[in-house]
Amino acid sequence: MSRFWTDKIASLDPYVPGEQPQDKKYIKLNTNESPYSPSPKALEAMAAEVSERLRLYPDPNGVTLKNALAKSYQLEANQVFVGNGSDEVLALAFMGYFAGGKPLAFADITYSFYKVYAGLYSIEPKLIPLNDHFDIVPTDYENLDVSGVVVTNPNAPTGKALPLSDIETILKANPDVVVLVDEAYVDFGAQSAVSLINQYPNLLVVQTLSKSRALAGIRVGYALGHPDLIEGLERLKNSFNSYPIDRIALAGATAAVQDEMYLKEICDKTIATREQSVKELEALGFSIVPSATNFIFATHPDKDAEQIYLALKEQGILVRYFGKKPRIGNYLRITIGTDEEMSALTAALKTL
Ligand code: PMP
Repeated sequence: MSRFWTDKIASLDPYVPGEQPQDKKYIKLNTNESPYSPSPKALEAMAAEVSERLRLYPDPNGVTLKNALAKSYQLEANQVFVGNGSDEVLALAFMGYFAGGKPLAFADITYSFYKVYAGLYSIEPKLIPLNDHFDIVPTDYENLDVSGVVVTNPNAPTGKALPLSDIETILKANPDVVVLVDEAYVDFGAQSAVSLINQYPNLLVVQTLSKSRALAGIRVGYALGHPDLIEGLERLKNSFNSYPIDRIALAGATAAVQDEMYLKEICDKTIATREQSVKELEALGFSIVPSATNFIFATHPDKDAEQIYLALKEQGILVRYFGKKPRIGNYLRITIGTDEEMSALTAALKTL
């Protein structure tokens, strides 16, 4: 251990992001990025921002982006918070709203960053198992003595979505704590809880430009909720780094949010490719969890997931394997690429 490390640093178990290997060009189906270019309007706006203006600090309030998001979701600008990827938004929410002494409830199979933040802020996780079909069971979230609840909808890495009525059950059962709904993948076919924001002051919806808007590279995420919840996040952010969105990201994100036609176009393409890929993988004997996302969670009854992962990597195709974990140890998470990339995947799987 380094001489200057505290026990706290030594005890951290940081998140390990999906592989981004540099040794050769892979078909990358492992980190849920979009296979499509960002909106041409976003690219144009970013190119224009690369100018002498970069000597100036960005707008600390990100007003153009907040206004664009508010318009898009029919909210007020004071119901919108923006941050450096939804990972930063989640970190601030965990610190501000969940580090209150009581445990934080979330599913036992979900986005693994929640456990990392919980560790960082000394929050005890209250893990709520998914049922045998990988569903979140909303009544399991009743009568909890917790600091808050995080629901991922659709869930990751399973890809399964909850109907809005189930989100409402969880909100009604937990009126005194923040219920954070992480909707990183919502645009690929799930129902968003944004429509419930004006009814439930304890609801915080978190979304990202990394997936459906094909902008993982500029790190922009946002939260939508009651003005008091948003104001809390602003206070936290301004106590750290009041310029989380740089000028280029701000310009690109604003243009991307305004380009709703392009969003629909690339989401529709991804959904169509997903449905086709599900058919093709099922024909090869895989079982696929029903997905409302830009990835599928797949297992083969007679084949070892780790072996498939390694064999595909050998052939230049990267998918996500999570290791020999309980319940998901024989599953692979496969991001939906272009039709051509998915055909290459099916062709490679046929040779195994
Ligand atoms: N939430 C979930 C469920 C995710 O899978 C991811 C991406 N790995 C994120 C949040 C974070 O996305 P970003 O920081 O790129 O906005």
